[in-house]
Amino acid sequence: MLIKTGDTVEVIAGADKGARSKVIKVDRTAGKALVEGVNKVFKHVKRSQKHPQGGRLSKEMPIDISKVQYYCESCGKRARLGLRYTDEGAKERYCKKCSTSAGEIAPAKPAYAKK
Ligand SMILES: [Zn+2]
Repeated sequence: MLIKTGDTVEVIAGADKGARSKVIKVDRTAGKALVEGVNKVFKHVKRSQKHPQGGRLSKEMPIDISKVQYYCESCGKRARLGLRYTDEGAKERYCKKCSTSAGEIAPAKPAYAKK
């Protein structure tokens, strides 16, 4: 799973299908991601110190990671991500459709650098 916080993803299944938004949080153990404005629910809260009014609070719930796909800004399509090493030996993610880099995810290691 190569989706990270801050990525733009498109929802490909479920009630919010077609929505394109940013990932707020990724829960790797549960395989879920919190996506801005997606899977919104109303949480009913009682009056308390924190919520003196009580009432309904709108918030996002995590969505299964299989229901979202990375959205590539440079080719404007949903795409799978691949992993590769840069010439300097850093690990980076890339769009499998247009092969644009989606950012490095590990610092450069000389052992992986191209000679
Ligand atoms: Zn692309």
